[in-house]
Amino acid sequence: MAGLVAAARARELGAEVRVLEKGDRPGGSMRLSSGVIWRYRELVEFRRQCPGGDPELQRLIWERLDEAIDWLERLGAPVVARDTARELTAGRRFEPRGLTDALVGAAGEIELSAAEATPREPLVVATGGYPVRLARERGLLRRSNPCSEGEGIDLVLARGGQAVAGDEFYGRAMPGPVPEALYVPAAQLYGRLARRVNDRGEEFFPGEPSWSENDLAQAIAAQPGGRAWYELDAEALAHAEVVDRIPYAQETEALPDGGLRVRVYAGVTHTYGGVRIDTRARAVDGVWVAGVDAGGISNGGYASGLAQALVLGLLAAEDAVAS
Ligand SMILES: Cc1cc2nc3c(=O)[nH]c(=O)nc-3n(C[C@H](O)[C@H](O)[C@H](O)COP(=O)(O)OP(=O)(O)OC[C@H]3O[C@@H](n4cnc5c(N)ncnc54)[C@H](O)[C@@H]3O)c2cc1C
Repeated sequence: MAGLVAAARARELGAEVRVLEKGDRPGGSMRLSSGVIWRYRELVEFRRQCPGGDPELQRLIWERLDEAIDWLERLGAPVVARDTARELTAGRRFEPRGLTDALVGAAGEIELSAAEATPREPLVVATGGYPVRLARERGLLRRSNPCSEGEGIDLVLARGGQAVAGDEFYGRAMPGPVPEALYVPAAQLYGRLARRVNDRGEEFFPGEPSWSENDLAQAIAAQPGGRAWYELDAEALAHAEVVDRIPYAQETEALPDGGLRVRVYAGVTHTYGGVRIDTRARAVDGVWVAGVDAGGISNGGYASGLAQALVLGLLAAEDAVAS
C-alpha cells in the first residue's frame, strides 16, 4: 500500500515517479486485507495498547490519519463502512480491490516483477516488512502477500540506515494453510472463549487475550510447532463468532463434555521490526521508508498496518518532493 500511496501523492505534487513492484500484481497485503484503516480513538489509548512503540511516530500517524483517509476517498477508493464497529477504534472500511484500483490508477505505470537491487535515489522504500522470511525462519504459517522478504529493509540498512530489531509481528490464529481468499474469514478469532492448550497439554495463555488477540497469536507462535488447540465447551460453541469460523477448521476432536478442540497455527501477517525513521519518514539522506518496512511503531500491541502505510506513504512523498 505505502508505495502506491507515495507514488500517487508524488505525482499529484508534480513529480515523475517510477514504481517497482516485485510481485506480479500490485497491492501487496493491502489487497488481501479487510480494508479497515483505523486508529485508536484516543492517542493515550494508542500508547497504552502499544507501549513499546515510538511515541513520536505513533502521534504522527494518529494525528494525520483522518485527513489521509479523506485523501484516499477523494481518489475514489470505495468506502463500505464509516466506522470500525469497535469501542476502542475509529476509522473507515474500504473495499480492498477497489482501494487497490484507485491507488493504482493514481500511481501511474507500475513495473511488475521488477525488484531492483540498486534503485536510484531519491527513493521511497515500501516493501512490506519481512513476514515471508519470519514465517519461514520460525516455521510458522504466512498470512501475507508472498513477496515481502525484507529486501527493502536490507537495502536501507546497507545504505547506512538503523535497524529496529525484534521478532514481534501482527498475526492471527489460523486453522492451517488456506488460500489467500480465506485469510480473513478463516482466522480463528475467538481464542478468548477457549481453553488454550499446547501439544504438551499445557495451558499456555492463562489470562485474558487482548481485544485483537494479537498477543495470543504470538503466544501460539512460541509453542512447539507454532501451533496449539482451542478447546471450546458447548456454551462457547454457540457464540456467533465461533459458529462463523468453525466451518474453516481443518482438524478438530470431540471432547467428552460435548465440546470441541480446534487445531490452530500462528499465521504471520506483518512484522514490527524494520528501519528506524524520523517524523518525516526519512531513514538516511535520499531514502524514505514507509509502511511496515518502518520499524518500532506498534510494539507491545497492535495497531493498523494500513494506517501506518497510508500516513507514512503520504509523508514520504511530500518530504521527498519538497527536498
Ligand atoms: C488477510 C489480511 C487482513 C488484513 N486486514 C487489515 C485491516 O483490516 N486493517 C489494517 O490496518 N491492516 C490489515 N492488514 C495488514 C495490512 O494489509 C498491512 O499492514 C499493510 O498492507 C502494510 O502495507 P505495506 O505497504 O507496508 O505493505 P504491502 O501492502 O504488503 O505492500 C508491500 C509491497 O511491496 C512489494 N515488494 C516486496 N518486496 C519487494 C522488492 N524487493 N521490490 C519491490 N517490491 C517489493 C510486495 O509485493 C507488495 O506489493 C491485513 C493483512 C492481511 C494479509
